[in-house]
Parts: sequence; C-alpha cells; structure tokens
Amino acid sequence: MFRTHNCGELRLTDAGKPVTLSGWVQTSRDFGNLTFIDLRDRYGITQLVIDAEDSSELKTTAGKLGREWVIMAEGKVRERTNKNPNRPTGDVEIDVKNLTVLNASEVPPFTIEDDSDGGDDLRMKYRFLDLRRGPLQQNIIFRSQLALAVRAYLGGQDFVEVETPFLIKSTPEGARDFVVPSRLNEGQFYALPQSPQTFKQLLMVAGYDRYFQIVKCFRDEDLRADRQPEFTQIDCEMAFVTQEEILNTFEGLTRHVFQQLKGIELPEFPRMQYDDAIRLYGSDKPDLRFGMELVELNDVAQNKGFKVFDSAELVVGICVPGQASATRKQLDGLTNWVKRPQIGAKGLVYVKCNEDGSYKSSVDKFFDQEALAAWAEKCGAKPGDLLLVISGEDEKSRTQMGNLRLHVAESHDMIPEGSFKPLWVVDFPLLEWDEDSERFHAMHHPFTSPKREEVDRMLNGDHETMKSLKADAYDLVINGAEIGGGSIRIYDRELQEKNFQLLGFTKEEAEEQFGFLMGAFEYGAPPHGGIAFGFDRLCAVMNGQSSIRDFIAFPKNNQGRDVMIDAPARIDEAQCNELNLKVTVEPGN
Ligand code: ASP
Repeated sequence: MFRTHNCGELRLTDAGKPVTLSGWVQTSRDFGNLTFIDLRDRYGITQLVIDAEDSSELKTTAGKLGREWVIMAEGKVRERTNKNPNRPTGDVEIDVKNLTVLNASEVPPFTIEDDSDGGDDLRMKYRFLDLRRGPLQQNIIFRSQLALAVRAYLGGQDFVEVETPFLIKSTPEGARDFVVPSRLNEGQFYALPQSPQTFKQLLMVAGYDRYFQIVKCFRDEDLRADRQPEFTQIDCEMAFVTQEEILNTFEGLTRHVFQQLKGIELPEFPRMQYDDAIRLYGSDKPDLRFGMELVELNDVAQNKGFKVFDSAELVVGICVPGQASATRKQLDGLTNWVKRPQIGAKGLVYVKCNEDGSYKSSVDKFFDQEALAAWAEKCGAKPGDLLLVISGEDEKSRTQMGNLRLHVAESHDMIPEGSFKPLWVVDFPLLEWDEDSERFHAMHHPFTSPKREEVDRMLNGDHETMKSLKADAYDLVINGAEIGGGSIRIYDRELQEKNFQLLGFTKEEAEEQFGFLMGAFEYGAPPHGGIAFGFDRLCAVMNGQSSIRDFIAFPKNNQGRDVMIDAPARIDEAQCNELNLKVTVEPGN
C-alpha cells in the first residue's frame, strides 16, 4: 500500500498513529543528524523528519533526495515543537522509520511553488510541472467542480445531456472552420464545429425539449489575447420557451453555481437593451461594478467655435470622480492612450472641475467658465472631478470612450474587489451592415429569430428596414465579460431562407449548406431557443481572474501552438498520400 493518508489531512488528533504517505519532495533541509522534508501532493504538504540516529540507511536515502523526487514514507505522527500556523497540517510531523524512493526526478526547470520563477514559455513547455503548482491545481479542480455542479443543476431541471459530433459540416459562428480531410471521401473535408448550433436545434425538432452539453468548440481565429482555438461551452437549448423563460433558467444556473462554489449570493440581474449599453457604456458588455456612464455633450459643446466638436457626429464625456488634481503628465498619458491605434481616437479634451468652483480645460480658448459649467452639470460633476471628452463618429467615439472608461477605472483602482455585477444585455440587432464588404452579417448567428413583431418588416421591408431589425438575442455579462449568449431561433423555412438571402447566400448555397436544417423545419419544428456559456471564461470570472488559459489544463499559446507536444506539426508523405493531400514543402523547410 502506497499510503494510508494524503499529505493534507493529518492533524494533532492523529498524533501517535502509524501512517504511510506518498508524494513529491517539495524541499529537503539537512541539519546534520536531522533532515526535514516537505512532502507534497494535491491535498497539501506534510513535514517529514528523518533522524540519522534511527538508521544510517535512512540517512543515506534522505541524503539522495532532490526536489520533485517521488517517495513513500512510513512512520508515526507526532506533535511538532515548532508549529506552522500557515498550514492545515502545521501542528504535526511524521517521525519517519522507513523511506522508499518510488522515482527520481531531474531538477525541474522552474520552482514548483505558488509563485514560480519560470517564464511563460518554459512553463508551457513543461505544462505537466506547471500543473503541479497549487494555484493551477486549484483552478483545474475548480473547473471540474463547476462542471459537476452544472450537470447536477441542469439534470435536475430535466435537461438531457447529448453528445453531438465533432466531424461535421461548417456551422457559421463568425469564425473560420478547422477542417479535417476525409480519407474515405477523396477531396472532401469535415469541419470541426464552431458550436453544436444546428445539432441542438435538430434535437429540439426531435422532441428532446431540453438539451445541454459541456462541449468543445473550435474556431480558427486570429488569436487575440486570451482566445483559444479550442474552448468549452455549456451549450443549451430549450423548446416551447420564451426569451424570458430562458433568461430565468440560466440566471438560476448562474446563481446556483456562484452559491455552491463560491458561497456568493449574486445581486439582481438587470436587463439592459443593447442600444442602452452602447449609449451608456460604449460596449455591449458593460462592466457595472463602477459608474462613469457616458454622457452626450453635443448640445452644450457644439456651435461654440471649436471646429473639432462642431464637425463631429458625437461629443461624449465621462466624469472621473476626484481626479481634478491629475497632473499634466497623467493627462498626456491618457491622451496618448486613446490615440494608440488600438483605440484610435484623434485626441482627448479634459476639464478639471476645481475645488474652488472654477474650471480649467484643454479648450479654454473656445469655452468660457459658463460653458464649461454647463458640461459639468450635464455630467453630474462635483468640484474635484475630472471630465474627459472624445468626439467623432457616433459609434466609434462611444467605443473609444467605453474603452477609456475601463482603462481609467482600472488605473485608478475604482473597481471594487470581490464584487460581481451580472446583467442581461437584450434586444441585439438582428443584422450588422458591413461597409467594407457591403454585406449584412448576422449579429449573433444566422439561425437567430427577429423579434416576433419584426417578422413582417423582415419579410417585406426594404434595405434600410433590415438595418433596424431587432432580434430576440441576449448576452449574459458579468463584470464586463461576456459569459454567455443565445437567442430565440427561426423555426420555419421561409423566414430562415429570407435570413440566408439577406446574409448574401444564393438559394442554392443556402440549400447546400443548411438544407438539412430547413428541411427539418418542415417536419414539426417546435418554437425553440437557447444559449451557450463560455465555460472557460465563467471559471476565470468566478475566480476574479482575467485569463482563461490558467483554467485549461493544456492550452495553446498565442500562436495557437501546443509547445509541449509541439503541435501543429507536419505529417509525413505517406499520410498525405493516404489523405489525398498534396503538400508542397519549400526546400530547406
Ligand atoms: N451557438 C451560439 C454560440 O456559440 C450560442 C447559442 O446561440 O446558443 O454563441
């Protein structure tokens, strides 16, 4: 037997017990006759003491040990004279009588401590060692517990877990497909699902009523920070439901998992129209943990002779509380921040609302005290506050201001720690007009239904009408992160065909790609809708962390590579031939 107990469970009440522990050597400290070893496993760390006077063989074995060796120790639990209050096992130690080396270890390339000294690349290459570290183990175990809680909750609500295939035909969720060549069907490819969207809808047609799956999805995107080409969704679909019932069901799920895993009672889940989110926060995923809503200043800032504002579609400001004392350098810093290409603003105007009631702005030439007072009033600014103002095209300026709002909140520590602010963003537009390609894109995906009262306008309206159609589409946002998104679906052929047509599909293309779904709609498709949660993101947000990578056991790096197994990789010629693939390899590569 390798162990009677794990390394995290022995307490003072166990003193006197003979025990066997197995684990990894965290540290080994040699004090002449006495050697102290911290033995670690997933459950904790227990101190072992080896007394050379007991046997010289023991001493020799102890002397060989290095970090991360795997050992088995037999001995007796005893009270420690020098207790360690920071460890649950800190009151006891094991007086070791027998020590067995189960496996030696090379010196690890970085320390296996909560704060490791290893750089990102090294830790990714040795992910199995990184995964031994406490914080990562906690994350991965949290993830497992969350999955179990989700299954239990949805199972309890009559949801059926159904696996859908990975080798499929394209499901458009707005990214490129990963494709897999078919050996048996020359020249043909499967696509890996960007989501199980069409399958879950078919399950509704099949009468399963409530479906869920914790499922991998694959999207070949240019990797922005914190995106993974394969990621996990809690994917759900329900039949005979209204949007309201879906929101309530998944508010229930969210509340349940926060309660069960974090002991947190979430506040109310307000519903915010998409248009209001953009207007007030410059974002469709507003962070409600702090204020600083966007304020439109057109009527007080235009027609005062300042060309930049006069020619702008929108002048928009935020009021930063208590920052009137910002230095020149800080303000220049903010200006440079908004001018970076990622944000793209032309400039930034500021107004300091001084404590004495006067105003000092970067546009004093054009605006007198009275004019600036009008701005301050519109923004609800008090003496001591700072106004920041951006102008330009409506949508762009709002997005820029939304970004600045987040940046300012982060850099001024305005975000209360440990607080969670969920909300539903609802009434998304159905379609998005893309100027460059002169085409409509589905804002959510092509299976999303317009609001019931919009169906007529959609079937009969002109081009401009299409731009204003609203959908029964919704996102769950927590702390500025999109946790989930879904919609009520189209369930009749005519409307689905119309949608494909608006999205630029010819009738033949639509039929070839999605004929199976539209065909199914002709066999008694019930009204249905659903949602998918980003499971990795939910893990991260619940733990107040921003990176999903630390909640994925074996993630890809920013280039989409797994550097541990070195994938993607070339395949040999024989395999290419078998797959009927012609791969041209440049000489020297
Ligand atoms: N399939 C959608 C997505 O991946 C979610 C849904 O509409 O249910 O975003």
